[in-house]
Amino acid sequence: MFNGAILVGANERTGGEPFHAVHPATGAKGEVAFSNASTQDVADACALAEDAFASFSSLTPDARAAFLEAVAEQILAIGDLLIETAMAESGLPRPRLEGERGRTVGQLRLFASYVRQGDWLEATIDKALPERTPLPRSDLRRVNQPVGPVGVFGASNFPLAFSVAGGDTASAFAAGCPVVVKGHPAHPGTGELVARAIGAAVKACGLHEGVFSYVPGTTHELGGALVADPRIKAVGFTGSRGGGLALMKIAAGREEPIPVYAEMSSINPVVLLPGALAARGEAMGTAFVGSLTMGSGQFCTNPGLVIALDGPDLDTFVAAAATAMTGNQPQVMLTPGIHEAYEKGVAALAGAPGVTTIARGAEAEGCNRGQHAFFAADAATFRDNAALAHEVFGSSSILLKCKSIDEVNETIASLEGQLTATLQMTDSDADDAAKLLPTLSRKVGRILTNGWPTGVEVTHAMVHGGPFPSTSDGRTTSVGTLAMMRFLRPVCYQDVPDALLPAALQDANPWGLTRRMEGKLEVAA
Ligand code: NAP
Repeated sequence: MFNGAILVGANERTGGEPFHAVHPATGAKGEVAFSNASTQDVADACALAEDAFASFSSLTPDARAAFLEAVAEQILAIGDLLIETAMAESGLPRPRLEGERGRTVGQLRLFASYVRQGDWLEATIDKALPERTPLPRSDLRRVNQPVGPVGVFGASNFPLAFSVAGGDTASAFAAGCPVVVKGHPAHPGTGELVARAIGAAVKACGLHEGVFSYVPGTTHELGGALVADPRIKAVGFTGSRGGGLALMKIAAGREEPIPVYAEMSSINPVVLLPGALAARGEAMGTAFVGSLTMGSGQFCTNPGLVIALDGPDLDTFVAAAATAMTGNQPQVMLTPGIHEAYEKGVAALAGAPGVTTIARGAEAEGCNRGQHAFFAADAATFRDNAALAHEVFGSSSILLKCKSIDEVNETIASLEGQLTATLQMTDSDADDAAKLLPTLSRKVGRILTNGWPTGVEVTHAMVHGGPFPSTSDGRTTSVGTLAMMRFLRPVCYQDVPDALLPAALQDANPWGLTRRMEGKLEVAA
């Protein structure tokens, strides 16, 4: 159950001006009064996290993996209450939330198996060369170590998979970092249920209570205090560009600046190459609208931009997309605020010079439903007006008509950083694709062909990141096992006696790791 508590380690607190969840499908206020955490709660949570660091960071890979698995078990043990609470608080349908729970549990288990493998430690050994002339070489051994306590901001659009026990928390735990979560005010009951599940796993595994704390609330002051706390050493965030930038500024202004891994805004260009348009323009038009409107378009990978050569084959695509969109019922958006921001963004696009409306979805029946929108402009108009490239979070997209492949390339080159780019192509488009790929790869974290960008697999090879402003640091990812690297740093031990070295670097290799010895990988038996 949930009762509106703040969870500072094992300690339940109440306090602050109470707030209520708003059920977006009806606009009704939820019954439970949730406590607003104070900056003192944040400070206490961070102090506990710091206390927990020494023991949590030095767990064996097996013990850390067992904890991640226990979190997954505890989340499943909540049962249907979790799904029902998330449905009421987010307006998302049951199948989507059941899928999201599966993904949350699956990613915790994936991290557990990856932690056990141990190659993320990157144990690297260059033994001493005492006979080397003119100077002997010291014994040098490097291993990745966790950075310290991590602050996590849950996202509104994934109440499970990118929230309290989502990718940021799972990857920080996997790296060995205690976590303090700032709960998103849009889904406080869901957040508390998951926070209690993590607390139960901490207890069941006999870990220090400071490994996890949950500070819910509605004020920027709370999130600001979390980022500013000197015990926090890195931050994970998914949300608005404004929010991410504000937190980055706080982090950079600290006496000890820290990294904020913020995933913020992306319009995910989809390029329709001529061969694909000729071969399957109609089918692509329908499939595009499916991807655009899925989940009310509330995905960071939503296809908010389509780029193509003008001509009759493009007209076929446009007609099919318009047919698919017209009459398509809008779904409930996540919060009244997100719905309002969507309507404003769509109105701005509709009124922008040189932009025409291709189609709108059915008018909304009920509150907080975002009517789908598809616009068109020529690419030159788009390149001259930076505002047209801003993310409109929801099911809105704009088609850019180009005169040549060179203009497609020029338009891609003018874009800000993106999470994804998609090429719709056939074999006959290979030369054009080869021309565009180098430009695309400088702009995005993931390039796909003949698919749609919505739907992000949680795997080892996945990159859910990209140059600014899609994220604050394009060198990494917030989805997949590589996400752990955000919360690790390399430490080199020089001439340190074997018994004092971390287990990963000791001569006997007690954890049975694959290690790099003198530059060559030695695979564990
Ligand atoms: P948000 O406003 O950025 O909030 C996300 C979290 O950050 C909340 O916990 C919020 O807490 C906190 N926060 C925001 N600004 C802050 C600041 N200046 N100082 C301290 N904490 C701050 O995002 P949202 O509420 O999820 O949605 C708003 C908009 O974000 C959407 O309309 C959409 O444009 C965008 N969005 C984008 C994505 C994406 O994946 N691209 C995903 C979700 C949302 P408080 O509000 O309690 O302070």
